[in-house]
Amino acid sequence: MQKFRGIFLKNDNELALMREANRLGSLILGAMCAEVRPGVATMRFEEIAQDMCRTFKVRPAFQGYYGFPYALCCSVNEEVVHGFPSATRVLAEGDIVSFDFGVVYEGFYGDSACTVGVGQVSEEAERLMRTTRESLMLGIAKARAGNSLNDVSAAIQGHAEQHGYAVIRRFVGHGIGRSLHEKPEIPNFVPTMAAPLPLKAGMVLAIEPMLALGTHEVEILGDNWTAVTKDRSLSAHFEYSVAVTAQGPEILGLPASAA
Ligand code: MG
Ligand code: MG
Repeated sequence: MQKFRGIFLKNDNELALMREANRLGSLILGAMCAEVRPGVATMRFEEIAQDMCRTFKVRPAFQGYYGFPYALCCSVNEEVVHGFPSATRVLAEGDIVSFDFGVVYEGFYGDSACTVGVGQVSEEAERLMRTTRESLMLGIAKARAGNSLNDVSAAIQGHAEQHGYAVIRRFVGHGIGRSLHEKPEIPNFVPTMAAPLPLKAGMVLAIEPMLALGTHEVEILGDNWTAVTKDRSLSAHFEYSVAVTAQGPEILGLPASAA
């Protein structure tokens, strides 16, 4: 595989496989979102993930990754990322729930995430989710050959902070391909002293802003995985895997009309 500054560039065949990995992952994510309602235990979404992976004959990307025990990361309210599905955590009206999910298809990874409201949520929660998704889409729009990675980060950070939200710094986006996490790291803020990395056609970037109502600081719970905001304020997370192409950014696995 061709490389630029240690970053794998995908050819057309590889992109086709990544499109399929992300299409299947997005389908499964969509099925989970459709089942969100008050009274559902979050383990239900793990079951959907496992069942659909069997149906599609794909492997869940996260299970076993550094020992992560589940197919799905399911994070409720102040949980930012890497929450465990649970048979006893029952969704309540007004909660927000983030699903982060990916599959491996023919050796290539897909990775995407979204946050949805449970029943009727507060205007504050709605606005946080909307702004997080908008930040993602603005970042994606900058994922063009000739731009630098800092343009992506700056677009996300600018939109988030303009709306008064904190950008989580502890976790970042990443390149993706034959591995779940490849170079480069994609912060949702512009790091001081960051040398600009030029974007090239063939890069595939998992861009994933995580925003919070309060502090950007997080702590990890006793399960050694679940990250929560330090002030327990609400947090939202959206992610797409995006190919940088000669024609511009392509969200993998989504029909163009759905973006
Ligand atoms: Mg993800
Ligand atoms: Mg990711």
